[in-house]
Amino acid sequence: MKPSQWGIFPTNDPEQTLRLRRFFVGSAIYLMTVAFALLCWALGFLDDRITITYASTILASNVILYCVLRSGLNKRFKDPSLTTFQIMVSAAQGMYVMYFAGPARGAFLLLGVALFSFGMFRLDTRGFLKLAAGMLLVYALMVAALVYFQSETSNLRLDLLLGVAFAMTLAQFSLLAGMVSDLRHKVSDKNRTLAKQNAELEVALQRINDMAIRDELTGVYNRRYLMERITEETVRSQRSGATFCLCMVDIDFFKKINDGYGHLGGDEVLRRVARAASGALREGDFFGRYGGEEFAILLTNTTLDGAMVTAERVRTQIHNLRFPEINENLQVSISLGVAEHLRQDPANVTLQQADEALYCAKHNGRNQSVAAPARA
Ligand code: GH3
Ligand code: MG
Ligand code: MG
Repeated sequence: MKPSQWGIFPTNDPEQTLRLRRFFVGSAIYLMTVAFALLCWALGFLDDRITITYASTILASNVILYCVLRSGLNKRFKDPSLTTFQIMVSAAQGMYVMYFAGPARGAFLLLGVALFSFGMFRLDTRGFLKLAAGMLLVYALMVAALVYFQSETSNLRLDLLLGVAFAMTLAQFSLLAGMVSDLRHKVSDKNRTLAKQNAELEVALQRINDMAIRDELTGVYNRRYLMERITEETVRSQRSGATFCLCMVDIDFFKKINDGYGHLGGDEVLRRVARAASGALREGDFFGRYGGEEFAILLTNTTLDGAMVTAERVRTQIHNLRFPEINENLQVSISLGVAEHLRQDPANVTLQQADEALYCAKHNGRNQSVAAPARA
């Protein structure tokens, strides 16, 4: 097992981490009540036994709660934060110590409010009112026990008065906390909306970026983007000496396709040819529409021999394409001119060489790849 599995917080579950952080805030409040009980003990309001019992049950319940939260057992409950449960357990513990605290009893109710405030992380007004009812019920039970078992020493009127003040404070707090919780929900709704809008903007931006670099009809790179890549590659070649090749591609007798199948048929052929050709290249190569029925390929880190192999592969693939949606018998061929870039040359010299090689391919009968003659 990885050591991180034994950390105080889980490493891969942000929700549980948040719950555990809140648990520690709650624990701090409980420890404060323990400190207060010790003070009561020091001042003689609580005896040894009650103080020890109170402190040890608070400690034990916090250890148990930590184990439940850390092990993930809490996720099986309707409210995995166990907020109400935590508050009710410590309220019951508080009432136990109050039962024995004599005249110091009222002071513990103030701590009860601090405990109640812990629900702020989680509860709305309804939740708070329910919790308040629960806490008041536990208080009423304690007062009833006092009347029943300690009738001589207890002061029912004072306890009831404290109870009413406690109830009023809790009610007031519930309303305020409810408003805070509404606000929190509004903020998180806003955040969600903002996140959604951000995601939509991201998609829109991506589309705009795509539109700026892609050819509308075929979806392959446009001439401007291709030229940018070629310029970049030229600079890189000057710096590092890396070789690259350029290949000009032209569809053979494309005018006939337009004449035979209409402009829309011609467009479809352009799309299919562009998709097939760019799909036949390796990663790092760039295929773009140069204009009309002409395309260009930037073959990075490739010598003339390698570029010729690629050119032939592309040519064969295009020749093997079928266009059943236009005409069963339609077959398309392309001619290609390939030139290797020389380090000292500007890019347009290489483009010119490739263009001349393409012209040779056309002149020699089309449907073929021709390499530009070697230069010094
Ligand atoms: P070659 O084998 O010598 O290349 O003959 P070709 O007919 O392919 O060459 P040419 O340059 O004479 O004709 C190219 C045609 O491509 C002319 C033009 O109408 C057509 N064309 C250019 N852009 C588009 C386009 O976006 N869609 C369609 N359908 N046709 C286009
Ligand atoms: Mg052509
Ligand atoms: Mg042409």
